[in-house]
Amino acid sequence: MFNKKSKFELKKDLEQEAFQRITCSFYRYINIKNPKIFRNHLYEKFSNLNILGRVYVADEGINAQISVPEDKWSMFEDYINSEILLNSITLKKAVQEGSSFIKLKILVKNEIVAYGVDKDCYNMNHVGQHLSAKEFNESINEEGSVVVDMRNYYESEVGRFKNAITPDIHRSQELLPEVAELISDSKDKKVHLYCTGGIRCEKASAYLIKKGFKDVYQLDGGIIQYAHDVKKENIPSEFIGKNFVFDDRLGEKITDDIIGKCHQCQKSCDQHANCNNDACHILFIQCENCATKYDRCCSVNCRDFNALDNEEQRKLRKDIDKKVSSAKLSTKFRPKLYKLFNYWK
Ligand SMILES: [Zn+2]
Ligand SMILES: [Zn+2]
Repeated sequence: MFNKKSKFELKKDLEQEAFQRITCSFYRYINIKNPKIFRNHLYEKFSNLNILGRVYVADEGINAQISVPEDKWSMFEDYINSEILLNSITLKKAVQEGSSFIKLKILVKNEIVAYGVDKDCYNMNHVGQHLSAKEFNESINEEGSVVVDMRNYYESEVGRFKNAITPDIHRSQELLPEVAELISDSKDKKVHLYCTGGIRCEKASAYLIKKGFKDVYQLDGGIIQYAHDVKKENIPSEFIGKNFVFDDRLGEKITDDIIGKCHQCQKSCDQHANCNNDACHILFIQCENCATKYDRCCSVNCRDFNALDNEEQRKLRKDIDKKVSSAKLSTKFRPKLYKLFNYWK
Protein backbone atom coordinates (compact mmCIF):
# COMPACT_ATOMS: atom_id res chain seq x y z
CA MET A 1 0.00 0.00 0.00
CA PHE A 2 2.13 2.83 -1.28
CA ASN A 3 1.65 5.57 -3.77
CA LYS A 4 3.41 4.93 -7.08
CA LYS A 5 2.91 8.13 -9.10
CA SER A 6 5.74 10.53 -9.96
CA LYS A 7 6.06 13.94 -8.33
CA PHE A 8 5.11 15.59 -11.61
CA GLU A 9 1.93 13.53 -12.00
CA LEU A 10 0.97 14.20 -8.38
CA LYS A 11 1.38 17.96 -8.74
CA LYS A 12 -0.71 17.89 -11.92
CA ASP A 13 -3.46 15.91 -10.16
CA LEU A 14 -3.51 18.45 -7.37
CA GLU A 15 -3.74 21.43 -9.73
CA GLN A 16 -6.74 19.88 -11.46
CA GLU A 17 -8.72 19.37 -8.29
CA ALA A 18 -12.02 21.24 -8.34
CA PHE A 19 -12.42 21.39 -4.57
CA GLN A 20 -10.77 23.03 -1.57
CA ARG A 21 -8.60 21.24 0.95
CA ILE A 22 -8.29 21.75 4.70
CA THR A 23 -4.78 21.43 6.13
CA CYS A 24 -4.76 20.06 9.66
CA SER A 25 -2.52 18.30 12.15
CA PHE A 26 -3.00 16.05 15.14
CA TYR A 27 -0.93 13.87 17.44
CA ARG A 28 -1.39 11.62 20.42
CA TYR A 29 0.99 9.77 22.69
CA ILE A 30 -0.75 6.43 23.10
CA ASN A 31 0.39 2.83 23.27
CA ILE A 32 -0.11 1.27 19.82
CA LYS A 33 0.38 -2.50 20.03
CA ASN A 34 0.98 -3.17 16.37
CA PRO A 35 2.03 0.01 14.54
CA LYS A 36 2.36 -1.82 11.21
CA ILE A 37 -1.21 -3.11 11.18
CA PHE A 38 -2.51 0.26 12.33
CA ARG A 39 -0.47 1.98 9.62
CA ASN A 40 -2.00 -0.16 6.88
CA HIS A 41 -5.48 0.34 8.24
CA LEU A 42 -4.94 4.10 8.33
CA TYR A 43 -3.50 4.13 4.81
CA GLU A 44 -6.59 2.42 3.46
CA LYS A 45 -8.98 4.80 5.26
CA PHE A 46 -7.08 7.95 4.35
CA SER A 47 -6.61 6.97 0.69
CA ASN A 48 -10.32 6.32 0.40
CA LEU A 49 -10.97 9.84 1.67
CA ASN A 50 -8.40 11.29 -0.77
CA ILE A 51 -6.33 12.62 2.13
CA LEU A 52 -2.75 13.75 1.46
CA GLY A 53 0.06 14.39 3.91
CA ARG A 54 2.68 12.88 6.17
CA VAL A 55 1.86 10.59 9.08
CA TYR A 56 4.18 8.86 11.55
CA VAL A 57 3.03 5.85 13.56
CA ALA A 58 5.11 4.32 16.38
CA ASP A 59 4.40 2.17 19.39
CA GLU A 60 4.39 5.40 21.41
CA GLY A 61 1.67 7.10 19.31
CA ILE A 62 0.77 8.97 16.14
CA ASN A 63 1.81 12.30 14.57
CA ALA A 64 0.00 13.56 11.47
CA GLN A 65 0.08 16.55 9.13
CA ILE A 66 -2.53 16.14 6.43
CA SER A 67 -4.80 17.89 3.96
CA VAL A 68 -8.42 16.75 3.73
CA PRO A 69 -10.81 17.56 0.84
CA GLU A 70 -13.39 19.98 2.23
CA ASP A 71 -16.35 17.83 1.17
CA LYS A 72 -14.81 14.82 2.92
CA TRP A 73 -14.18 16.64 6.20
CA SER A 74 -17.22 15.34 8.07
CA MET A 75 -16.55 11.77 6.92
CA PHE A 76 -12.98 12.21 8.14
CA GLU A 77 -14.21 13.41 11.53
CA ASP A 78 -16.62 10.49 11.75
CA TYR A 79 -13.80 8.07 11.09
CA ILE A 80 -11.51 9.71 13.70
CA ASN A 81 -14.20 9.45 16.36
CA SER A 82 -15.02 5.84 15.49
CA GLU A 83 -11.38 4.80 15.85
CA ILE A 84 -10.53 3.85 19.41
CA LEU A 85 -6.90 5.08 19.19
CA LEU A 86 -7.92 8.46 17.75
CA ASN A 87 -11.28 9.09 19.38
CA SER A 88 -11.82 12.81 20.30
CA ILE A 89 -8.27 13.76 19.33
CA THR A 90 -7.72 17.53 18.86
CA LEU A 91 -7.63 18.43 15.16
CA LYS A 92 -5.67 21.63 14.58
CA LYS A 93 -6.50 23.46 11.36
CA ALA A 94 -3.83 25.55 9.63
CA VAL A 95 -3.94 29.33 10.01
CA GLN A 96 -3.33 29.95 6.32
CA GLU A 97 -4.44 27.71 3.49
CA GLY A 98 -2.41 26.98 0.37
CA SER A 99 -1.23 23.84 -1.35
CA SER A 100 0.44 21.83 1.38
CA PHE A 101 1.01 18.17 0.46
CA ILE A 102 1.12 16.35 -2.86
CA LYS A 103 0.90 12.75 -1.67
CA LEU A 104 0.03 10.51 1.26
CA LYS A 105 2.94 9.04 3.17
CA ILE A 106 2.36 6.97 6.30
CA LEU A 107 5.50 5.61 7.93
CA VAL A 108 6.15 3.33 10.89
CA LYS A 109 8.85 4.94 13.08
CA ASN A 110 10.63 4.20 16.36
CA GLU A 111 9.45 7.48 17.87
CA ILE A 112 6.83 10.00 16.74
CA VAL A 113 9.32 12.74 17.59
CA ALA A 114 12.90 11.73 16.84
CA TYR A 115 14.75 13.07 19.87
CA GLY A 116 16.77 9.88 20.11
CA VAL A 117 16.81 9.85 23.93
CA ASP A 118 16.48 6.61 25.90
CA LYS A 119 13.04 5.69 27.18
CA ASP A 120 14.23 5.85 30.81
CA CYS A 121 15.15 9.55 30.36
CA TYR A 122 11.49 10.58 30.51
CA ASN A 123 8.14 9.46 31.83
CA MET A 124 5.15 10.42 29.69
CA ASN A 125 2.93 10.32 32.79
CA HIS A 126 4.81 13.38 34.11
CA VAL A 127 4.66 16.09 31.48
CA GLY A 128 4.73 19.88 31.80
CA GLN A 129 1.53 21.71 32.69
CA HIS A 130 -0.42 22.89 29.62
CA LEU A 131 -1.08 26.63 29.33
CA SER A 132 -3.56 28.38 27.04
CA ALA A 133 -2.46 31.37 24.94
CA LYS A 134 -3.64 33.84 27.58
CA GLU A 135 -2.07 31.91 30.47
CA PHE A 136 1.17 31.51 28.54
CA ASN A 137 1.37 35.28 27.86
CA GLU A 138 0.87 36.08 31.53
CA SER A 139 3.25 33.44 32.81
CA ILE A 140 6.16 34.24 30.48
CA ASN A 141 5.94 37.91 31.46
CA GLU A 142 6.43 37.13 35.14
CA GLU A 143 9.83 38.08 36.48
CA GLY A 144 12.43 35.32 36.29
CA SER A 145 10.45 33.26 33.75
CA VAL A 146 12.40 31.29 31.19
CA VAL A 147 11.07 30.61 27.67
CA VAL A 148 12.67 28.01 25.42
CA ASP A 149 11.99 27.45 21.74
CA MET A 150 11.97 23.65 21.31
CA ARG A 151 12.28 23.73 17.54
CA ASN A 152 15.33 23.61 15.29
CA TYR A 153 17.27 26.81 14.70
CA TYR A 154 16.07 27.31 11.12
CA GLU A 155 12.52 27.45 12.47
CA SER A 156 13.11 30.09 15.15
CA GLU A 157 15.12 32.14 12.67
CA VAL A 158 11.92 33.48 11.06
CA GLY A 159 9.59 33.56 14.06
CA ARG A 160 9.74 33.15 17.85
CA PHE A 161 8.43 34.36 21.17
CA LYS A 162 10.05 37.62 22.29
CA ASN A 163 12.91 36.87 24.73
CA ALA A 164 12.86 33.14 23.97
CA ILE A 165 16.04 31.12 24.19
CA THR A 166 16.59 29.66 20.71
CA PRO A 167 19.12 26.80 20.89
CA ASP A 168 21.54 26.78 17.95
CA ILE A 169 20.63 23.22 17.04
CA HIS A 170 20.11 21.80 13.59
CA ARG A 171 19.36 18.18 14.49
CA SER A 172 16.54 17.17 16.88
CA GLN A 173 18.76 14.45 18.36
CA GLU A 174 21.01 17.05 20.00
CA LEU A 175 18.23 19.28 21.29
CA LEU A 176 17.18 17.85 24.67
CA PRO A 177 20.63 17.49 26.31
CA GLU A 178 21.59 20.90 24.90
CA VAL A 179 18.49 22.62 26.36
CA ALA A 180 18.97 20.97 29.77
CA GLU A 181 22.55 22.30 29.74
CA LEU A 182 21.59 25.81 28.53
CA ILE A 183 19.10 26.35 31.35
CA SER A 184 20.83 24.21 33.99
CA ASP A 185 20.83 27.14 36.47
CA SER A 186 17.03 27.56 36.14
CA LYS A 187 15.91 24.37 37.88
CA ASP A 188 13.84 26.37 40.39
CA LYS A 189 12.50 28.87 37.87
CA LYS A 190 9.35 28.69 35.77
CA VAL A 191 10.41 27.07 32.50
CA HIS A 192 8.11 27.50 29.48
CA LEU A 193 8.43 25.41 26.36
CA TYR A 194 6.80 25.83 22.98
CA CYS A 195 6.97 24.21 19.55
CA THR A 196 4.89 24.14 16.36
CA GLY A 197 1.97 21.95 17.40
CA GLY A 198 2.79 20.86 20.96
CA ILE A 199 4.01 17.33 20.25
CA ARG A 200 7.70 18.06 20.81
CA CYS A 201 7.06 19.80 24.16
CA GLU A 202 5.16 16.79 25.54
CA LYS A 203 8.28 14.66 25.50
CA ALA A 204 10.72 17.55 26.08
CA SER A 205 8.87 18.64 29.24
CA ALA A 206 8.82 15.04 30.52
CA TYR A 207 12.59 14.92 29.91
CA LEU A 208 13.28 18.18 31.80
CA ILE A 209 11.08 17.14 34.73
CA LYS A 210 13.05 13.90 35.01
CA LYS A 211 16.25 16.03 34.92
CA GLY A 212 15.08 17.87 38.03
CA PHE A 213 13.34 20.96 36.66
CA LYS A 214 10.49 21.68 39.07
CA ASP A 215 8.20 24.13 37.32
CA VAL A 216 7.79 23.16 33.67
CA TYR A 217 5.01 24.51 31.42
CA GLN A 218 4.14 23.90 27.79
CA LEU A 219 2.13 25.92 25.29
CA ASP A 220 -1.02 23.90 24.70
CA GLY A 221 -1.40 23.04 21.01
CA GLY A 222 1.81 24.90 20.16
CA ILE A 223 2.18 28.00 17.98
CA ILE A 224 -0.61 26.81 15.66
CA GLN A 225 -3.21 26.87 18.45
CA TYR A 226 -1.70 30.05 19.92
CA ALA A 227 -2.09 31.88 16.60
CA HIS A 228 -5.77 30.89 16.42
CA ASP A 229 -6.42 31.92 20.01
CA VAL A 230 -4.75 35.35 19.97
CA LYS A 231 -6.86 36.16 16.91
CA LYS A 232 -10.08 34.78 18.35
CA GLU A 233 -9.67 36.27 21.82
CA ASN A 234 -8.12 39.47 20.50
CA ILE A 235 -5.10 39.34 22.81
CA PRO A 236 -1.61 40.59 21.90
CA SER A 237 0.72 38.10 20.21
CA GLU A 238 3.95 37.62 22.11
CA PHE A 239 5.05 35.47 19.19
CA ILE A 240 6.55 37.57 16.40
CA GLY A 241 7.12 36.70 12.74
CA LYS A 242 6.34 33.51 10.90
CA ASN A 243 5.53 30.00 12.05
CA PHE A 244 7.68 27.59 10.06
CA VAL A 245 5.71 24.56 8.82
CA PHE A 246 6.94 21.33 7.24
CA ASP A 247 4.88 21.37 4.10
CA ASP A 248 5.25 23.07 0.75
CA ARG A 249 4.19 26.42 2.21
CA LEU A 250 7.28 26.51 4.52
CA GLY A 251 5.61 28.98 6.89
CA GLU A 252 2.54 30.95 7.90
CA LYS A 253 2.58 34.57 8.99
CA ILE A 254 1.55 35.19 12.61
CA THR A 255 2.52 38.88 12.77
CA ASP A 256 3.90 41.21 10.08
CA ASP A 257 7.34 41.41 11.72
CA ILE A 258 10.14 40.04 9.55
CA ILE A 259 12.84 38.85 11.92
CA GLY A 260 14.92 36.66 9.60
CA LYS A 261 17.72 37.63 7.23
CA CYS A 262 18.59 36.48 3.73
CA HIS A 263 21.53 34.09 4.18
CA GLN A 264 23.21 35.54 1.11
CA CYS A 265 22.88 39.34 1.37
CA GLN A 266 21.69 39.74 5.01
CA LYS A 267 18.68 41.80 3.90
CA SER A 268 15.67 41.35 6.17
CA CYS A 269 13.72 38.36 4.82
CA ASP A 270 11.61 35.44 6.13
CA GLN A 271 11.21 33.24 3.07
CA HIS A 272 12.75 29.78 3.30
CA ALA A 273 13.70 27.95 0.12
CA ASN A 274 15.35 24.69 -0.86
CA CYS A 275 18.48 25.01 -3.00
CA ASN A 276 17.58 24.60 -6.67
CA ASN A 277 20.52 22.23 -7.12
CA ASP A 278 18.92 18.81 -6.51
CA ALA A 279 22.25 17.39 -5.35
CA CYS A 280 22.22 19.92 -2.51
CA HIS A 281 18.60 20.84 -1.75
CA ILE A 282 19.67 22.53 1.50
CA LEU A 283 17.01 24.59 3.34
CA PHE A 284 17.93 28.26 3.70
CA ILE A 285 16.53 31.80 3.71
CA GLN A 286 16.72 33.65 0.40
CA CYS A 287 15.38 37.03 -0.77
CA GLU A 288 13.94 37.60 -4.26
CA ASN A 289 17.05 39.50 -5.44
CA CYS A 290 19.37 36.70 -4.45
CA ALA A 291 17.00 34.11 -5.90
CA THR A 292 17.47 35.78 -9.28
CA LYS A 293 21.20 36.32 -8.82
CA TYR A 294 21.93 32.73 -7.75
CA ASP A 295 19.28 31.01 -9.89
CA ARG A 296 17.49 29.91 -6.66
CA CYS A 297 20.65 28.15 -5.44
CA CYS A 298 22.34 28.47 -2.05
CA SER A 299 25.77 29.35 -3.43
CA VAL A 300 27.79 30.17 -6.55
CA ASN A 301 29.01 26.56 -6.49
CA CYS A 302 25.51 25.14 -6.56
CA ARG A 303 24.47 27.61 -9.25
CA ASP A 304 27.42 26.58 -11.43
CA PHE A 305 26.80 22.90 -10.83
CA ASN A 306 23.13 23.35 -11.65
CA ALA A 307 24.08 25.05 -14.93
CA LEU A 308 26.04 21.99 -16.14
CA ASP A 309 24.15 19.74 -18.53
CA ASN A 310 22.42 16.68 -17.07
CA GLU A 311 25.00 14.23 -18.32
CA GLU A 312 27.84 16.10 -16.68
CA GLN A 313 25.90 16.52 -13.43
CA ARG A 314 25.18 12.81 -13.36
CA LYS A 315 28.83 11.95 -13.87
CA LEU A 316 29.93 14.22 -11.03
CA ARG A 317 27.26 12.92 -8.67
CA LYS A 318 28.11 9.32 -9.47
CA ASP A 319 31.74 10.00 -8.78
CA ILE A 320 30.92 11.57 -5.44
CA ASP A 321 28.48 8.82 -4.48
CA LYS A 322 31.19 6.24 -5.14
CA LYS A 323 33.52 8.04 -2.74
CA VAL A 324 30.70 8.37 -0.24
CA SER A 325 29.92 4.67 -0.20
CA SER A 326 33.57 3.66 -0.08
CA ALA A 327 33.96 5.98 2.93
CA LYS A 328 30.76 4.43 4.38
CA LEU A 329 29.11 7.83 4.81
CA SER A 330 25.44 8.64 4.42
CA THR A 331 24.32 10.41 1.25
CA LYS A 332 22.07 12.48 3.48
CA PHE A 333 24.93 14.86 4.03
CA ARG A 334 25.77 15.19 0.38
CA PRO A 335 26.26 19.00 0.40
CA LYS A 336 28.91 18.67 3.09
CA LEU A 337 30.51 15.82 1.19
CA TYR A 338 30.81 17.87 -1.94
CA LYS A 339 32.93 20.24 0.09
CA LEU A 340 34.77 17.39 1.75
CA PHE A 341 35.87 15.91 -1.53
CA ASN A 342 36.89 19.30 -2.82
CA TYR A 343 34.47 19.49 -5.67
CA TRP A 344 33.94 22.99 -4.53
CA LYS A 345 35.18 25.19 -1.75
ZN1 LIG B 1 19.43 38.29 -0.45
ZN1 LIG C 1 23.08 24.36 -2.64
